[in-house]
Amino acid sequence: MLRSEFTIDLGAVRQNARRFRSLLGEAELWAVAKADGYGHGAADVGRAATEAGATAVCVGTVAEGLSLRRVLPEQRIIVLGPTDQAREAREARLELVVGDGPIPTGVPVHVKVDTGMGRYGFRKVRALPENVVGLMTHLATADSDPAFADRQLARFREATAGSSLTLHAANSAAALRIPSSRFDAARVGIGLYGLSPFGGDPGDDGLEPVLSWRSGLAQVKQLQPGESTGYGRTFVAERPTWIGIVPVGYADGFRRDLTGTEILVDGERRNVVGTVSMDSFAVELPGALPAGTAVTLIGDGLLAEEHARHDGTITYELVTGLNANPDRAVRRVLDA
Ligand SMILES: *Cc1c(COP(=O)(O)O)cnc(C)c1O
Repeated sequence: MLRSEFTIDLGAVRQNARRFRSLLGEAELWAVAKADGYGHGAADVGRAATEAGATAVCVGTVAEGLSLRRVLPEQRIIVLGPTDQAREAREARLELVVGDGPIPTGVPVHVKVDTGMGRYGFRKVRALPENVVGLMTHLATADSDPAFADRQLARFREATAGSSLTLHAANSAAALRIPSSRFDAARVGIGLYGLSPFGGDPGDDGLEPVLSWRSGLAQVKQLQPGESTGYGRTFVAERPTWIGIVPVGYADGFRRDLTGTEILVDGERRNVVGTVSMDSFAVELPGALPAGTAVTLIGDGLLAEEHARHDGTITYELVTGLNANPDRAVRRVLDA
């Protein structure tokens, strides 16, 4: 029985990488694969993006960088998060981002300038040691407030005037819609996975979703009027109602607040009803479908963005919460 199956389409990763490369012109594409490649698998995504012309892969921690180094022996790997593991980074030829305190030696460093994110980063760029290779900033509102992003970019230009180091500021949203943010490289995460940084349809920006999530009906039954499904009896049938039980729950990343969202059952949109459990949830059916009927939770035209909007969250949170542990899920990689 198909329980929880993730399919990662590396052809789509390469196609999205090529889309960004054509937008970026002379600026380099750096693939962001922190949090295990936004839940898609950092090793696979980092390799596919590299094949499609990404010239660096960015991760969140030194440990993520060390794992990636095993599969990408030659690629530049940049650790975006703060760390005290400079020695491990040096030995594995990782590059570090530093936004506070002393700058470690013997390892390539990107100095982060806080131009308005109000998070990591120096307020000012001072004299820099020779192992600093890049100057960067991070935009707080590239997806939502381009005017504020422009103010940040102006501060960044001012702070870096006259520098011959590699300058980088853009995330996916900025790379797509703010040409002046592109500088020498763009750090592209969400768009590489074919997810819209704007929460809309990724197709509007020429992006193709990489991840599909499928399951199947484990059991089908008819509720009589007054009967309910799931914890708390939050769905009570008003008329005879066919429901299917999908063997996926919040422990798999199908969040508890997804009650009411749509999924595909045998290719048709159906509503999730009742409370989502740890290992299962219910979907309303038009009639008595056979157990084993195909269910798509993400993919086949059903966008992760729809679930994120339903939840009041963003796809970043949804996909990094997916559980591909082999004890619970099957992970397939398409590498055509
Ligand atoms: C995660 C991250 C990115 C990528 O952002 P997307 O919106 O996913 O493209 C870029 N830069 C930094 C510093 C990040 O932490």
